[in-house]
Amino acid sequence: MRMTIVGCSGSFPGPESPSSCYLFEAEGFRMILDFGNGSLGALQRHIGLYDLDAICLSHLHADHCLDLCAYHVVRTYSPSGAKARIPVYAPADAPARMAAAYGMPMEPGMENAFDFRALAPGTRRIGPFEVTTALMNHPVETYGFRVSHGGATVAYSADTGETEELVRLARDADILLCEASFLDRPDLPPDLHLTGRHAAEYAKRASVSTLILTHLVPWYDPELILRDAFGGGFEGPMELARAGAVYDLGDSRGPGGG
Ligand SMILES: [Zn+2]
Ligand SMILES: [Zn+2]
Repeated sequence: MRMTIVGCSGSFPGPESPSSCYLFEAEGFRMILDFGNGSLGALQRHIGLYDLDAICLSHLHADHCLDLCAYHVVRTYSPSGAKARIPVYAPADAPARMAAAYGMPMEPGMENAFDFRALAPGTRRIGPFEVTTALMNHPVETYGFRVSHGGATVAYSADTGETEELVRLARDADILLCEASFLDRPDLPPDLHLTGRHAAEYAKRASVSTLILTHLVPWYDPELILRDAFGGGFEGPMELARAGAVYDLGDSRGPGGG
């Protein structure tokens, strides 16, 4: 499978990246995890406008879901005609919340464009992918993801404070995409976000191969997040997420380029 970082800016878009969006491709199937503000623009650098087959939303904070509104326009009002509905795996509130964000009646809301499916912890198949979700530790209902295909696995923390669920979800993954929103300081608010050091500690405990620090908030120098991560004891490769980076996994190719 191929994983592309479409957007990795935390909390709001930055000058170099939209908010959270990760594209997974295998066997011609295309799925995104999160659709944060600004990401629909950058997504068009990687796939065609109508090429998505499934959408997953980790939670309903704007920086993870808001471009579903823009994408509703794309699939509904295209000059080439309305496009087939595609599944949107999201917290159960998503149909009402996204309709409210768009400013449309709740009934029928976005049902013409999207087949909303409420997330719960567990494992399901989405296209060719095996997708496991687990509840993270964030002020709203939030799911972390584990996506596997062809013997390769990517785990994604979504937004979370400290939680043992992340160790289970990321166990032995090839890549852990772990949020690192906070600089490592005393008296950080609990149950909200992680630091680079936390991310590296989880990567070590879960025995992942590669750690990618993501959800990087533009008001911090990302090099300071990376510096904090070096204090977490993880000895594998570690890097900062970068919009446009592409990773080819499985089929014995291993993490690659970009
Ligand atoms: Zn966020
Ligand atoms: Zn959030």
